[in-house]
Amino acid sequence: MDAAVGSLREVKVPAKPAGKIRMPPVVSSDAPDFVKNVTAKIMAQQGDSVPVSGMPDDGTWPTATTQFEKRNIATEIPVWDPTVCIQCAQCSLVCPHASIRVKAYDPAVLNQAPATFKSADAKGKEFAGKKFTVQVAPEDCTGCGLCVQRCRPSTRPCPARRRST
Ligand code: SF4
Ligand code: SF4
Repeated sequence: MDAAVGSLREVKVPAKPAGKIRMPPVVSSDAPDFVKNVTAKIMAQQGDSVPVSGMPDDGTWPTATTQFEKRNIATEIPVWDPTVCIQCAQCSLVCPHASIRVKAYDPAVLNQAPATFKSADAKGKEFAGKKFTVQVAPEDCTGCGLCVQRCRPSTRPCPARRRST
């Protein structure tokens, strides 16, 4: 303990940042006024500065605002492997941030999909002839790993593996 105390050094903290990196705006300039004036302040930990008059009178929150709330905080995101997925949708069910979605759809829509878009033949007779995709929204994912832990085949080959971003 004496050695630790003896090794303590004061760290000088500059009065202002010396680096040239600047934080980007919290939300896009295309965001609606409510998002800029209320949601963005809350996201920036400045919610206390939002006046009561800035909040909706009836307490309802404008819809379609999550499209402007992209935190990009995950250091790892799940990766779907369609070759071993049993299409149980448990990964989507457990995701606390609705960041992972499953969908069965008409194969024709794949004509306009990028070459890297993954799909598989949908399982189950009610989806005969359909294609199936598990899609992660990387900007919304927190990297918590719950989907990977819940994925049943992940105890064997792992359909929802984690990948560093
Ligand atoms: S890692 Fe967590 S936040 Fe990301 S998709 Fe899986 S369950 Fe959702
Ligand atoms: S939990 Fe695993 S097996 Fe089930 S749909 Fe998601 S990736 Fe596929």
